[in-house]
Amino acid sequence: MIVLKNFMEELVFDAVKDLSKELSVCTCEKCMLDVAAIALNDLPPKYVVTEKGKLYSKIETLKQQFEVDIITAVTKAIEKVNKNPQHEGVKGV
Ligand SMILES: [Zn+2]
Repeated sequence: MIVLKNFMEELVFDAVKDLSKELSVCTCEKCMLDVAAIALNDLPPKYVVTEKGKLYSKIETLKQQFEVDIITAVTKAIEKVNKNPQHEGVKGV
């Protein structure tokens, strides 16, 4: 099966998971997705056509190339969400 995939999405979701452990940020689904969305808007999309299952070897190769940019974008996004969380029902976190 051939898939079209923005591999930047995969890398950003990985970085969000890692960095949310190190930096204090609300880890509810809404905040995590907000962080990912903000970071992805800051980063260029990188679409690849690949066979399903082979995506991960490709990601590993490209990861190193963009790692610094991704960490910077995700860190900025976490700060933004921390200042102004968009989740409902949780006030003052
Ligand atoms: Zn939240």
